[in-house]
Amino acid sequence: MIYEDYYIFTPGPVKMSEEIMEVGGKQTPYFRNCEFSDVTYACEKGLIEMVNAPEGSRVIFLTASGTAGMESVVMNLLNKDDNALVVNGGGFGGRFVKICDVHDVPHHDFKVQNTNLWDIETLAPKEQFSSLIVNAHETSVGHLYSLDAMGAYAKKNDLFFIVDAISMLVTDPIDMTAQNIDVVIASSQKGLALPPGLTMVVLAPRALEKVQDVKSLYFNFKDYLSNGERGQTPYTPAVTIMLQLEARLAQIARRGGVEQSIKSAKAIAEYFRESIKDLPLKTYTEYMPNAMTTLIPTDGKSAMDIVNDLEKNYKVMVCPNGGAERDIIFRVSHMGDMTRAYTDVLVNALYDYYNIERK
Ligand SMILES: *Cc1c(COP(=O)(O)O)cnc(C)c1O
Repeated sequence: MIYEDYYIFTPGPVKMSEEIMEVGGKQTPYFRNCEFSDVTYACEKGLIEMVNAPEGSRVIFLTASGTAGMESVVMNLLNKDDNALVVNGGGFGGRFVKICDVHDVPHHDFKVQNTNLWDIETLAPKEQFSSLIVNAHETSVGHLYSLDAMGAYAKKNDLFFIVDAISMLVTDPIDMTAQNIDVVIASSQKGLALPPGLTMVVLAPRALEKVQDVKSLYFNFKDYLSNGERGQTPYTPAVTIMLQLEARLAQIARRGGVEQSIKSAKAIAEYFRESIKDLPLKTYTEYMPNAMTTLIPTDGKSAMDIVNDLEKNYKVMVCPNGGAERDIIFRVSHMGDMTRAYTDVLVNALYDYYNIERK
């Protein structure tokens, strides 16, 4: 089935702008030349600015989905002499725990609930850790952690701080310098609103010093860093998505910078949450990102039934959860090229579904 004419509110892929889609519709150019190196440099510079990375930071571009970013960071920057504190508040936190397992990196599976970790100082086990790993927005449940609090904790305890920012970049604030973050993992298909296939790792100078030799040909950061000096990657990059990234970064700048994009996302998220107040739905967590709203039906309806009905009868795609949560919650993304008018399509569909008049 082709979903081209569906309204899309899923947390990846997200709604792309016409301008970005046009770039994707063109012939992929040859890339081992200076022209393409300039594209890489522009992408690197734009990303470094976006997350306010410290002077001397570098970016690695991987042709892969976001999980490859998560795994390659653990492979290249941690080892058996580490002890990582891994925040686990859902599916993506659990994935980092598995990655540490697979690569024999000693770690503590730090299960958290009902907190954005403003109180990490008191909650964290009283052990000696070497690093702190978090998915800033735990996308499986739409829960945002406090990077300010975690960054302060990392600094105080001299922890190497790794942040997966995949689903909060461009919609929610992040500042590598102010929040003492050493590594940021980004990916194309969430807040950046590009097609899936490109993953980026921003390495601050402290991380660059720590890059080690690894038993992997493809995920060897040293290769990416040396090739990156001339604006290239060791293997074929996602050429078209990089061209789209360059255009997207220029678009964000033209629209008033990332601060302005964050403000717009916040306005859309607040508008959506306000608009559905008269429906039998409540929000899942008090620590919501601008990127997404997770909802719980309060009238006993199955969340999965709502998701299916919206798709079938209104051509609106929201996101179900798996496993035990499939009937309890569903997720609505505000990432990408969202407007009030577009959001209204979902809001009106929900009112119609419940047969309640929208005031
Ligand atoms: C989507 C996402 C990823 C990456 O998932 P892939 O399917 O590998 O692209 C990683 N972390 C978070 C927090 C995500 O939301």
